[in-house]
Parts: sequence; C-alpha cells; structure tokens
Amino acid sequence: MAERYALGIDFGGTKVLAAVVSLRTGEIVSSAKKKTRPDDGPEELVQRIFSVAQAALDDAGASQRAPVISAIGIGMAGQVDPVAGVLLGTPNLAQSSVELPIAARLTERFAVPAVLRNDVHIAAVGEQRFGAGHDAASFLCVFVGTGIGGALVQDGQLVTGFTGTAGEIGHIIVDADGRLCGCGGRGHLEAYSSRTAMTKVILGEIKRGRATRLTEVFALDDGTLGRGAALRSGMLSRAVADGDELVTEVVRDAARYLGFGLASVINVVNPQRLILGGGVIEAVDLMFEVAAETARREALPVAGRGIEIVRAGLGDNSGVVGAAMIAGAAA
Ligand SMILES: [Zn+2]
Repeated sequence: MAERYALGIDFGGTKVLAAVVSLRTGEIVSSAKKKTRPDDGPEELVQRIFSVAQAALDDAGASQRAPVISAIGIGMAGQVDPVAGVLLGTPNLAQSSVELPIAARLTERFAVPAVLRNDVHIAAVGEQRFGAGHDAASFLCVFVGTGIGGALVQDGQLVTGFTGTAGEIGHIIVDADGRLCGCGGRGHLEAYSSRTAMTKVILGEIKRGRATRLTEVFALDDGTLGRGAALRSGMLSRAVADGDELVTEVVRDAARYLGFGLASVINVVNPQRLILGGGVIEAVDLMFEVAAETARREALPVAGRGIEIVRAGLGDNSGVVGAAMIAGAAA
C-alpha cells in the first residue's frame, strides 16, 4: 500500500506549527514554525496559517520522494465549531469573537479536504495514536503553557461533552472568589498554574522589591517594567536550576495548585493514566514532579494510588500529529 500523508497544523498560544505527517507511522516528514501575534486581524491570522503550512509543504517537497498530502487538519486554541470548520473565538486575535471559516479557506487554498478542531483535542489524539496514551483505553491529558487545556479519552473515544467543552480543566475552580481568570471567572486553575499566571506573580514580586535573575526579562528600554510577554518556559527552568529563590517558590506554588486541580478531576473521572504536557511541563521538571506528587496525595486513596502519571510522549509534536490523523481519517 502506498504511504499516505496529511498536513497537521497546531495553532497554540505563542506559536503555530505545521508538519507533513505519515498517516501510517505518525512520523514527521517536514515541519515549519512561526510565532503568533495576539494583535493579528482575522485575515492576517489566515495568512499566517497559509504561510506556515506552505513552508512545511515546501520543505517536504525538497526531500527526494515528495509526499502528496490527502488532507489538512488544524487545531486552534479557543472556541471552534468542528462540524462547520469555523473558528468562533481565540486568544490569538485582537477581537474576542469572529466567524472565520478556517477549514473552507484551507481547502480553497490547498485543494484538499480540511478539518478544524480545538488545539487540546488534536494533541490528545496525537498522544492516543502514537504517544503516551497508545496503550491506554482511558486517559486524561493536561497541557500547561500560556493557558491550561485538558482532554479526556474514555474507552478509546475522545469525550467532547454536550457543547464541546468537556476537558476544560483550566477553568475548574481551585480558590473560591480567587484570582481573575482570562475567561472572566474567578479562582480558576489557569489563573494559578499557567505560564501567564506565573509571569504575573513574578512581575508583582519584582515590583515589591524581590530579587530574581528574571528581572531583565521584564525590563523595558525606558527603564520601567513591562508585562513579561517574552518570559518563556525555558527561562523558568534555567532560573530554577540556578537556585533562583523567587522563581522556585512561584513554580512550586503553581505546581501545587495544578496538583489540587488534577486531584479533583482524578476523583471524578478515575482515569487509568494522566498525561502531562505543554511548554511548562516539557521545560520545568519541578512543575511535573510537584504537580504529580500533589495530585496523587490529594486524590482519593484508591484512585490516587492506581493512576499512572506520565509526560506526553510526542512533546511539542502531539498536536500536529493528532491534527494530521484526524484529517486523514476524515478524508
Ligand atoms: Zn477561567
């Protein structure tokens, strides 16, 4: 049988990745990456997707046996209508709600069928097919980066819920009337354990006079402090490794809240395996360790003892691989 390929695109909070993926093995033939721009207009966002997709295809074409793709799958952070292939809202746009027919635009541009999904759903499918979930019938995936996303697979099926919001662990309440979340709610996990949340706490502490080697990340040319938009997971990891007291404290605290949130979900769902991924988990070992330990300890004893807590098997590529698999199955 001839090898089949699809293009997978993962449009996350800070970057957009595209890859040509083998549908048989999940192997990545070529890939391309671009930064996202939160001030993009809808048309700029579509053009950004086109250009990173084209770059991945060009790179694949440069290899000896140029693969022909049969479909395109894209996952985007935010609210999507997977049936219509329409993006309804995303943190990557200046305006809060849109009605962008992303799947139709991709089909028009690249002349193959295209599907649109939530970015966490594609990552869960990638992990299910070729990553840390490949041998588990039921697992929970949680990704920690700019925000916190989650997805639940039960008996081999992705659980989407009545309105497609199932798995939104970032918005479970860990502190009644607590910190304001990006969604407008209060006390949500994302406001305690995402990189965005940690950035805010570190900046607040710097303003109060605490010392940290990350101060320079926040410094603006005019000598004032910025919002720390450039703070990356790797910087947190290096600061922890260097013994930076403030950053270590902030990471531990964020990880503890993550563990509390995970424990609550473990009690409700009782999954066989918990897969943790995303930029912060990938980069910062302390985050994984403290979150896993807290989750196991705080969950009900039988569920907590039984659960396997592991890292995502495909790292940064869970999303592009899953998106390609969903597209290949639909084409
Ligand atoms: Zn929220």
